[in-house]
Amino acid sequence: MPFDRPARRRVGWGLLALAGTACGAGALAAEPVRPNIVFIFSDDHAYQAISAYNDPRQLLATPNIDRIAREGMRFERCVVPNSICGPSRATVLTGKYSHLNGFYNNSNSRFDGAQTTFPKLLQGAGYQTAVVGKWHLVSEPTGFDYWHILPGQGVYYNPPMIDNGRQVQHQGYTTDIITDLSLDWLKGRDKSKPFLLMCQHKAPHREWEPALRHLGHDQDRVYPEPPTLFDDYAGRGLAERDQKMTIAETMTEKDLKLVPPPQLSAEQRQAWDAYYEPRNRKFREAQLTGQDLIRWKYQRYMHDYLGTIKAVDESVGRLLEYLDQEGLAENTLVVYCADQGFYLGEHGWFDKRWIFEESLRTPLVVRWPGVVRPGSVNADLVSNVDFAQTFLAAAGLEAPGGMQGRSLVPVLQGQTPADWRKSFYYHYYEFPVPHHVRPHYGVVTNRHKLVHFYGPDVDYWELFDLESDSRELKSVYGDPAYAEVQRELEAELRRLRSELKVPDDDPPGASGRPPQPRRIPKPAA
Ligand code: CA
Repeated sequence: MPFDRPARRRVGWGLLALAGTACGAGALAAEPVRPNIVFIFSDDHAYQAISAYNDPRQLLATPNIDRIAREGMRFERCVVPNSICGPSRATVLTGKYSHLNGFYNNSNSRFDGAQTTFPKLLQGAGYQTAVVGKWHLVSEPTGFDYWHILPGQGVYYNPPMIDNGRQVQHQGYTTDIITDLSLDWLKGRDKSKPFLLMCQHKAPHREWEPALRHLGHDQDRVYPEPPTLFDDYAGRGLAERDQKMTIAETMTEKDLKLVPPPQLSAEQRQAWDAYYEPRNRKFREAQLTGQDLIRWKYQRYMHDYLGTIKAVDESVGRLLEYLDQEGLAENTLVVYCADQGFYLGEHGWFDKRWIFEESLRTPLVVRWPGVVRPGSVNADLVSNVDFAQTFLAAAGLEAPGGMQGRSLVPVLQGQTPADWRKSFYYHYYEFPVPHHVRPHYGVVTNRHKLVHFYGPDVDYWELFDLESDSRELKSVYGDPAYAEVQRELEAELRRLRSELKVPDDDPPGASGRPPQPRRIPKPAA
């Protein structure tokens, strides 16, 4: 059922602008109201760690992020085209895939800030624009009146930052500082203009260092383990077996808080040690090995990773409260999402990168009063490649040609177009460092995935059926029972590569490192 209470005033604005008419608003001389946009972006926040997503492990409560879902829409299937930090950010800004925006990987890509981005277009249309927090695109931000960013990955405590080009040193916890700076900018803005705020957290990125007030937040709870914590990777190929992202082998002493972060002040260090030292002593005395050791690491990982999210959720709460207090909530589009998904022990992993579910899917909740029906849930195949066009449409601007997504506005209105995408193209490039995940590309639908792993030592295809194998444990590529599905997906992959203008030899020496795909699917017989 359409939810259309005051929708006309806002989305109606966008539709009117596109239609080039002034009906409805014709009697009013004033500019139609354009929505403000608050885009809250975290780094590596798994949907499993947002209570609105109802993970069976019930890892933690995120009441403020849940509030956005309760008052807006929760997306069940928001996927990313290349599951790592920088490439996702470049996609959000440009509405394009890596092979067109030029940012393939975190190792040696540099964002070309001369490109068209949605913040630039909003700025040009009279929006005030700001980005605060993690940027991670190497070059300086463009299209923002105010930018105050972490250099590179940033640190969790006492972060150096760059304030519109000027180096500054902050004291305190980074998530709180990013929130304070965001609120300060909102308070000082020109109230006669609409605004875009991109509040971009470092958390919960590695090495998962919680705020001191959140140490022990879980009161030493023992977290349920995922069923695949001890995955042996049978049923899949060399790429899945031969990676460097397991809790068992890859986590460092710093990841596990067996050594403290170097940025802590003496006072902070005291609080840190008061929590970790007794627990670390007990751990060392226990001399754990084998599965017991992996189990201990998983528990420590959950305490720390989830601990960092407590502050992110508080940040969301403070921003929502400000919008309430200022009477801005009604006319502000609020988005919470992450740059990709993340493994919380599934398949024995942390990190992301893969075309597989936990990595491919990012949480997305959107509140837009009068447009989005409160408490709605959407299962369409949407993506962060759609965000740029969505924000432009919300502001009544036409997207420039060349953007590769599609506006989510009708989806948000509960009226997904009949020809909405049913398949999605994915391509991951970064290899061999840091996690030794082989490059791969493929096609995803709501039920199947066809993927090609390629490189100097791998060249194989896999096919997964999420209906019979939701955890993606057994490739059915080559299984005669799937011959028809396989042919269809191969054709769909070719169609998508062509539609998205993927060069045949993509990546064309993108970094000098990723090997070329040696073979794209053969034409169906
Ligand atoms: Ca990330």
